[in-house]
Amino acid sequence: MDAADRAALAAALDAGDVADLAAQFQRREHDGVTFHALPDYRRDVEKGTAVVDGEVVRGFPSIPRTLVVDSGVPGYFDGSAAVEEKLNGYNVRVADLPAFDGPVAFTRSGYVCPYTTARARDLLDLEAFFADHPDRMLCGELVGPENPYTSHDYAEVDSHDMFVFGVRERRGGEPLPVDRRRAVCREYGFRQPERFDVAAGDELAAVVADAVADLDGRGREGVVLTGVDGAPQLKYTTGTIHRQDLAHAFSLPYDYGRDFLFSRVVREGFQSAEFDDEAGRRERAHALGEAILLPLVEAIETVQVGEPLGEDHTVRGAPEVVAALLDHLEDQGLRIDVHGDRREDSERVVDFRKVAASSTDSIRAHLEGRTVDE
Ligand code: ATP
Ligand code: MG
Repeated sequence: MDAADRAALAAALDAGDVADLAAQFQRREHDGVTFHALPDYRRDVEKGTAVVDGEVVRGFPSIPRTLVVDSGVPGYFDGSAAVEEKLNGYNVRVADLPAFDGPVAFTRSGYVCPYTTARARDLLDLEAFFADHPDRMLCGELVGPENPYTSHDYAEVDSHDMFVFGVRERRGGEPLPVDRRRAVCREYGFRQPERFDVAAGDELAAVVADAVADLDGRGREGVVLTGVDGAPQLKYTTGTIHRQDLAHAFSLPYDYGRDFLFSRVVREGFQSAEFDDEAGRRERAHALGEAILLPLVEAIETVQVGEPLGEDHTVRGAPEVVAALLDHLEDQGLRIDVHGDRREDSERVVDFRKVAASSTDSIRAHLEGRTVDE
């Protein structure tokens, strides 16, 4: 990072010396432009913060989670908070920077993703928004079955769509208040997450409990609570998503950290303690066991018949955008097996698998008799 970038970072963070921090940034490239991004959380600085030619794009802050609604929600906010649906896709920040030719989309860890950039330009009226708000960024979730990073179906999304849940200052990260943000999204026609209610204290906890019961029944992820001024934020998720996470992780058992698995089981424990009656608890225990064991056995059987494990994705877009995406993924060290490649009108549609080498190799070794020391 050069001196101008370091000065811009120091100004954005309102900090003096940022030499140590700047050293943690990684070099990235997009469209022939070199820039730097922070790959992990550091004290006071969000993961994914990027510095591009003297301009700073702040990362999206990590949202704390409560495990218990009744004790975690009421005291968390000074005043009222809005309860909005938490969507299960991937986090995107869209910013308009002079170094690039048009607005670009950053992923959580600060890559400019060519595919997401093209999607954002297609789905959102960025020209109108950035003409009025050049120093702001749009924060949203890209959801739907056709995307390169996640796969969660929403009945209302056939391919993919973008939901905007934040409008923030690009350099300082300050959010717009909730009402103002929702009005801005309406003004430019951006799709946004469902809002349940605005409340405070015990009433807020009751809104969360009702919303989560409703979302759980519909197979959806959960809620994010946001103080009416735009901060702070808090999240709480449904049993359905805990079990889906576990099922996915146990379908690739050696590619997910043990913390990932343990945290989902603990979330289920606290949710059951707070909300289940005896019959509900037995039902949850049964579903949890199935979410763990069935995908694991299926993974073992897949390797047994000689197939590699992995995550399947479908993407669609202009041929050059899809080609740029596949390059972008391979640049990150992923092994991509393409098993479908076709044209639909002017779009290229590719089905591919991100090969999960650790899971495939470990399971194969155990099937061939490798022992474990435990
Ligand atoms: P971290 O723990 O660092 O926040 P994570 O990916 O584990 O990362 P999640 O558990 O998915 O985080 O929860 C936070 C994310 O939820 C946000 O980064 C955002 O991408 C997503 N999200 C979905 N819907 C909303 C919403 N309505 N408001 C805010 N964030 C939302
Ligand atoms: Mg998420």
